[in-house]
Amino acid sequence: MEPVQTLRIAIQKSGRLTEKTITLLENIGIKFDGYKNRLLVKALNFDVELLLIRDDDIPEYVQDGICDLGVVGANVTLETQADVTVLKDLDFGHCRLSIASPVSRSISSAKELGGKRIATSYPVLTKKYFEKLGLEVKTIKISGAVEITPRLDVADAICDLVSTGSTLKTNGLRELETILHSQSQLIRTNKELPEHKTELINKFLVRIEGQLLAENSRYIMMNAPKESLARITEIIPALNSPTVLPLADPSMIAIHTVIPITKFWEVMEELKAAGATGIVMLPIQNMIN
Ligand code: ATP
Ligand code: MG
Repeated sequence: MEPVQTLRIAIQKSGRLTEKTITLLENIGIKFDGYKNRLLVKALNFDVELLLIRDDDIPEYVQDGICDLGVVGANVTLETQADVTVLKDLDFGHCRLSIASPVSRSISSAKELGGKRIATSYPVLTKKYFEKLGLEVKTIKISGAVEITPRLDVADAICDLVSTGSTLKTNGLRELETILHSQSQLIRTNKELPEHKTELINKFLVRIEGQLLAENSRYIMMNAPKESLARITEIIPALNSPTVLPLADPSMIAIHTVIPITKFWEVMEELKAAGATGIVMLPIQNMIN
């Protein structure tokens, strides 16, 4: 009989994704005893271990089956063109891959960059984008400080990750076009896995979904006149039917429900107009639908 293998998850060793990834794993119940300056960390309470590596290496490690799962930005997975399956968008590490050119040059669109030199850490994605436009560009692969290359006359424009755009501004660059919206994702190897690993992966997926749902939902409570119930039930985009409780004042009821965070202000105003008072919103630790 083959020995039971530990489920191995590749995560970024040290960078923007590291802490959020560890928090996510802890939130779904996987405990670790310190991960800093370590390459391989075993979970305390599951047959799971983390391999801490550079984010650039994660998709290929997962593709080759060295790791079963990985947490990495879509930008990296797409650039490496690794053969993996995206299991879940994780809603952190949001950024965009954009083309930018010096403000000092009168370039107003990426379409004007045909034949020009583009510095980037993402030559595959950059080339693909310009190919779609029917343009050929010369990509120059740079692994860091891409934003400085136009000033050094190494490149005419850049294609780089942006979140707020302040780095571009500081370096006298103007964002012309976004070629990709990215966030962190959970990826899985396409190699066949033993049943105990797929079972564990499915279990974690359910927990991650619950976690993401909880983060994006709020528990709301309010009091309302009994006759407002039908109207209030109409307003709330409830995940479940609301809980209705009697109050000491027989003409009044309390209503409890869960709503998506994006709807909160809109819903709140409508509830107030429908007669709800004392509306309270609470965060949710976790939920399973
Ligand atoms: P490593 O040493 O692991 O290769 P890195 O320098 O390539 O690290 P980080 O800067 O830590 O990577 O970024 C990791 C990921 O965070 C990016 O690939 C991207 O998915 C995401 N990200 C979110 N916002 C930004 C941003 N403003 N700039 C760069 N990456 C961002
Ligand atoms: Mg990297």
